Amino acid sequence: MTESDSCLFCRIIAGEIPATKVFEDDRVFAFRDINPAAPTHVLVVPRRHVAKLGDCGDAHRDLLADVMLGANRAAEAENLDSYRVIINNGPGAGQTVYHLHAHVIGGRKMGEKLL
Ligand code: 5GP
Ligand code: ZN
Repeated sequence: MTESDSCLFCRIIAGEIPATKVFEDDRVFAFRDINPAAPTHVLVVPRRHVAKLGDCGDAHRDLLADVMLGANRAAEAENLDSYRVIINNGPGAGQTVYHLHAHVIGGRKMGEKLL
């Protein structure tokens, strides 16, 4: 059994678990979050499995750019001018699925400023 056999998002990418796709290309897959935190809540994941941002290094530069550009494309597909992109890294930050993903949320006023 490989890491991706047991990974929820790898299984979604493989079509083994259904999800509502927003867009895909050869490097990223974007789909709706099952428990949306805003009217629009899309998850952008790289096709290549990496558990979390903190595991990335120089070898992941292209992958990280793909995820951020994927966030732009997801927002465009959802007609969002304003949106917030969030990556949770590790349990203390609330990461629950250990396949790197960017949350793209929008469609409501983001009142709370985290920074
Ligand atoms: P994290 O908490 O790791 O930053 O984000 C994981 C996200 O995955 C959560 O927002 C959660 O709602 C979403 N999620 C968990 N399981 C599923 C699922 O089976 N399908 C979809 N579409 N989203 C999921
Ligand atoms: Zn995975």
